[in-house]
Amino acid sequence: MARYTESVCKLCRRERQKLFLKGQKCFTEKCPVEGRNYPPGQHGASRRSKISEYGVQLREKQKIKRQYGLLETQFKNLFETADRKKGITGTNLILLLESRLDNVVYRLGFAPSRKSARQIVSHRHILVNDSPVDIPSYLLKAGDVVKIKDKSKKLDLIHNSLKRVKDNVFPWLEVDKATLTGKFLQVPERADVPLNANEQLVVELYSK
Ligand code: SF4
Repeated sequence: MARYTESVCKLCRRERQKLFLKGQKCFTEKCPVEGRNYPPGQHGASRRSKISEYGVQLREKQKIKRQYGLLETQFKNLFETADRKKGITGTNLILLLESRLDNVVYRLGFAPSRKSARQIVSHRHILVNDSPVDIPSYLLKAGDVVKIKDKSKKLDLIHNSLKRVKDNVFPWLEVDKATLTGKFLQVPERADVPLNANEQLVVELYSK
């Protein structure tokens, strides 16, 4: 499957904000957004064009899609699932993104970034309710238990990542660092999800 292979920091600079795509580097002064908060390219710093309504909606969609590391088709398909569900489509979209296995592995602290979490899942290091699951887009349900396989428990990547996260910062997740086990207690409330985005703009974009 096609993947974005250029520097992910360019994506943050394009959106003029931190999207936290690189793990620890995002929390240091090496983060390019700290010093060069303008779009990449020769004219990035001087570009001052007025952005249209469509442009604002598009940028918001790109920002959310890039933070969760989805390709356009995956994102659109998830939007359609969110639209078919009861409730507010934009909120449904964010909660579906939060329920993805790669996102939960990242939030639990087993990986330093969502990209890295996706690799951990697809390289078969993860069990869900004691069964191997290697599909990053797998949607978790309340009560699902996410574990690192016994054979994979020595991976430095996981331990180094866990060292950097505080215990149980997300109220819908529970993590036991000693056994490398986490629990998806419930689908979160939108207000609890630390995502600075206006998902309603995505709904407006796809409704055109
Ligand atoms: Fe974005 Fe992280 Fe790169 Fe900063 S270091 S630009 S937050 S990916």
